[in-house]
Amino acid sequence: MLKEKGMDSPRLDAEVLLAHCLGMERVGLYVNSYKDLNPEAGQRYFSLVERRGRGEPVAYITGVKEFMGLDFTVTPDVLIPRPETELLVEAALAAIATRGRFSVSHFSGSRGELFPSRTSFANCDREPSPCRIVDVGTGSGAIAVSLAGRLPGAKVYALDISLEALSVARVNAQRHGVADRIVFLCGDLLGPLPGEIRGAVDLIAANLPYVPSGEIPGLMPDVGLYEPHTALDGGHDGLDFYRRLIPMAESFLRPGGTLLMEIAPGQGEKLTQTVLPGDGSACGNGGKGPWELSPCRT
Ligand code: GLN
Repeated sequence: MLKEKGMDSPRLDAEVLLAHCLGMERVGLYVNSYKDLNPEAGQRYFSLVERRGRGEPVAYITGVKEFMGLDFTVTPDVLIPRPETELLVEAALAAIATRGRFSVSHFSGSRGELFPSRTSFANCDREPSPCRIVDVGTGSGAIAVSLAGRLPGAKVYALDISLEALSVARVNAQRHGVADRIVFLCGDLLGPLPGEIRGAVDLIAANLPYVPSGEIPGLMPDVGLYEPHTALDGGHDGLDFYRRLIPMAESFLRPGGTLLMEIAPGQGEKLTQTVLPGDGSACGNGGKGPWELSPCRT
């Protein structure tokens, strides 16, 4: 049925939904026998397949999406974390690691073994002030929670304009045991950050809406019809939020701090030419550190 509806990955979707109905991991379908699917579970399964057939994203049906090897709670109030955004997390970890303040722990990626406890704090211990990381437009909290989990010495600020999104992010922080190291703040871009951390933030990660408004109607139906447009629509050229974010980020980053932004292919040049000060390669932030553009997509 899902195949006939033109779904990209009908078998995978069906398996995820069936495993969800049976309360097991997908691999359990192969390991265990599920021949005796009782009629009630069968009914439930078919109703979920029907929802998927109408275009509803699997993650909204099951309420879960895996990101960086962790299960994140998702609701229609938040964008479903995308695999390509894992690149942003990796880039953030690399940026922090090369600064030599942290030793970034290796991550097994397997469920259950969430955040390895073997993380070395060697560099961190010598550093009296904690590393400060901001995730602006946190949504489900996928970036903030993944970073907090990998960097136990960091203090993370997770910001969003949507209170509903923040409550999902909070659930995820609790789910992964990092709620005590993340501060959740509601407001526009960096507006809610406390003034005393001006000039003292090590890294700002941003996956803000960047889809040009004119492209919203043409998005795949499971994105366009189900995901929050407030998390997708970036204005006429998609860069409205970044245009406003950059000057704010400049005042919060410490010298040499890093701003990482997820954008669509083709937006990098425009961002460099029209949004970033100077030539975009070594600018902003008092000219002391490069802007890093993270060319990921959708
Ligand atoms: N990559 C998203 C998409 O599916 C867009 C995410 C964003 O705007 N930040 O279109």
